[in-house]
Amino acid sequence: MSEHSFSQLPLSTALLENLTSLDYQQMTPIQAQSLPAILAGKDVIAQAKTGSGKTAAFSLGILHHLNVKRFRVQALVLCPTRELADQVAVEIRRLARFIHNIKVLSLCGGTPIGPQIGSLEHGAHIIVGTPGRVDDHIRKQRLDLSELKLLVLDEADRMLEMGFKEELDSVVEASPAERQTLLFSATFPSQIQWIASSVLRKPEHIKVESTHNQQAIKQHFYHVALADRVDALRRVLLEKQPQAAVVFCNTKQQVQEVASELAVHGFSALALHGDLEQKARDQALVRFANHSVSILVATDVAARGLDIQALDLVVNFQVAHDTEVHIHRIGRTGRAGSEGLACTFFDDKDDYKMALLGDYLGYDLPTTALPDVTILNQQPQPAPMMTLQIDGGKRQKLRPGDILGALTGEQGIAGDQVGKIKVMANTAFVAVTRKAFKPALKRLESGTMKGRKFRVRVLRG
Ligand code: ADP
Ligand code: MG
Repeated sequence: MSEHSFSQLPLSTALLENLTSLDYQQMTPIQAQSLPAILAGKDVIAQAKTGSGKTAAFSLGILHHLNVKRFRVQALVLCPTRELADQVAVEIRRLARFIHNIKVLSLCGGTPIGPQIGSLEHGAHIIVGTPGRVDDHIRKQRLDLSELKLLVLDEADRMLEMGFKEELDSVVEASPAERQTLLFSATFPSQIQWIASSVLRKPEHIKVESTHNQQAIKQHFYHVALADRVDALRRVLLEKQPQAAVVFCNTKQQVQEVASELAVHGFSALALHGDLEQKARDQALVRFANHSVSILVATDVAARGLDIQALDLVVNFQVAHDTEVHIHRIGRTGRAGSEGLACTFFDDKDDYKMALLGDYLGYDLPTTALPDVTILNQQPQPAPMMTLQIDGGKRQKLRPGDILGALTGEQGIAGDQVGKIKVMANTAFVAVTRKAFKPALKRLESGTMKGRKFRVRVLRG
């Protein structure tokens, strides 16, 4: 038995076998450190960077303590955005797939409330949701937390940052005093102290140091005045030609401006921030993930919904407000052994932040010269794929196989011309190579799926 094997935990055989079948061979550091306390029923504050496996840590806690025979809400997980809540619900269901009749319900804003009311009437064991919507259901007495045993605040720092403090207070108020509370966060700003002291009881505080191998991320720092940064960004992008890059800005307005400027100059770029409609955010994430958009310009909060294995470039259009956020941003590149690159623009106003960052990294930050200005004569590379949107989804019983079949059947396009297929509630997205997109569009428009015709459009701009 290896040092961090799950089998040293008092988990049921069903859970352990499922972990093996999911190829979770070892606990991650945050899991190894937090799970003993979580399973023992203690309150825990756990801090670790994105991608460190926090979801499974609290999900295993939930499943361990759950009494499936008692059909009442026993666990509630609050997340800052719908995307994150969806990811958490998926992970819980995966971890619970050997437990029969378990009901996990999502309650998020930005989705119709009617079906949620219906589902609540049917009951659930575990609720995953965003604070506003969950609070709304509690106030309207549709959600009864009287048998809640476990409350999880995931990405608590972001929830506070997004202004959910009142809703959090209100949900805590509606929860039984006798309960276990777990707080997860990537960073630990001072606001969290408030929750830690008022909401948790004698919490165990677990922190896993940023274990990211510094060697795996190359950092370049460019001294550029704010007014010259769009040009600087174009030069960096033309030189590096990333397939998947995220450009971080500190405000929504800056995000919008930078994304528009890039688009004007022919880059395959989209904006991602919290003021966009849910539909636009979904589309941006899908198109980025399926390689039909190469560059996302994003705020820190919005970028949390990203589920991308490896970015090849992260650009800090502005230096992050604090060091932890910087480390968090650049931690998204260079995953899984591949070397990543993080480029940061700064000017004299950033002296203080840069000094702190240098202290943290333990070396003087070297500055790099921008690629030569003549590179601006080059044309940006288009993204390799294009996205077709179909006006039908799960509700219309469309499955990825139907779409693939319609595209590749007799006289169709070759299977290797089709990329990711994402089916959502009422819509579906399929990526095809640029070369194949015209015949692909024609086939979907003229053919049928599930015995009927669907409208199809190409997503551009
Ligand atoms: P965090 O919430 O800390 O940002 P996640 O919980 O989303 O990170 O985990 C990141 C990824 O790691 C997920 O794809 C998850 O399925 C995977 N993962 C988590 N724990 C393990 C493990 N013990 N072994 C292998 N993969 C794991
Ligand atoms: Mg998480």
